[in-house]
Amino acid sequence: MAKTATIASRGARVAVRRQAFVAEVLRTRALSPSMMRVVLGGRGLLGFVSTGVGDEFVRLLFAAVGESEPRLPEAKDGVLDYGSIDPDLSRVYTVRRFDAERGEVTIDFALHSGGIAAAWAVRAKPGDRVGITSPTPLHAPPDDRRVRRAAHRAGSVTSASSDASDAEKSMSEPSSSADPVPGAGAG
Ligand SMILES: Cc1cc2nc3c(=O)[nH]c(=O)nc-3n(C[C@H](O)[C@H](O)[C@H](O)COP(=O)(O)OP(=O)(O)OC[C@H]3O[C@@H](n4cnc5c(N)ncnc54)[C@H](O)[C@@H]3O)c2cc1C
Repeated sequence: MAKTATIASRGARVAVRRQAFVAEVLRTRALSPSMMRVVLGGRGLLGFVSTGVGDEFVRLLFAAVGESEPRLPEAKDGVLDYGSIDPDLSRVYTVRRFDAERGEVTIDFALHSGGIAAAWAVRAKPGDRVGITSPTPLHAPPDDRRVRRAAHRAGSVTSASSDASDAEKSMSEPSSSADPVPGAGAG
């Protein structure tokens, strides 16, 4: 009989107010020659909260060449106005980890040639400043019970069960979000 894994429940989805912060680089670590982990924090990040959804992304805003301070979108009535933001200075990244107690956001950057974000990450050092928006949730996995049932069925029967199909469908479809599609504008 197939063993089923226990998947920890995630917290409930939290409605997060749209705002932008200026965070500081606390530390960096090369995970591989092509992946850099950057941990952000500092007083400027006070008030950053997670949506509670495991798959959430933020928009990072980089300082222009020759400047040390990033420009932030203006928060108006719960919406971020990117009108004054140069799109070439912002990129979308997944929140790898959020430590609420320490107020730290971890982001893993793929390193590649070209690109302001990859170039920033490879040079990032403690104290560097970067803009970061409040997170936007994407995919929320199905609850434990459905995952367990799908895993159980998949391991014990050869044809796809409706439970398994449901779970796969649920896993591949982004959960609904009031925010725009990432990469296609404001995030
Ligand atoms: C919701 C969402 C979450 C994301 N999360 C992450 C994340 O956690 N970590 C992450 O690394 N990326 C993530 N990305 C992808 C990231 O936003 C893009 O790769 C981004 O455009 C990189 O910006 P850049 O300034 O470094 O390069 P760009 O200016 O966008 O591109 C410069 C050149 O590099 C190439 N390029 C871009 N990305 C890569 C790559 N990964 N490998 C090789 N060549 C590349 C481009 O094709 C282009 O030729 C995410 C994207 C989305 C939509």
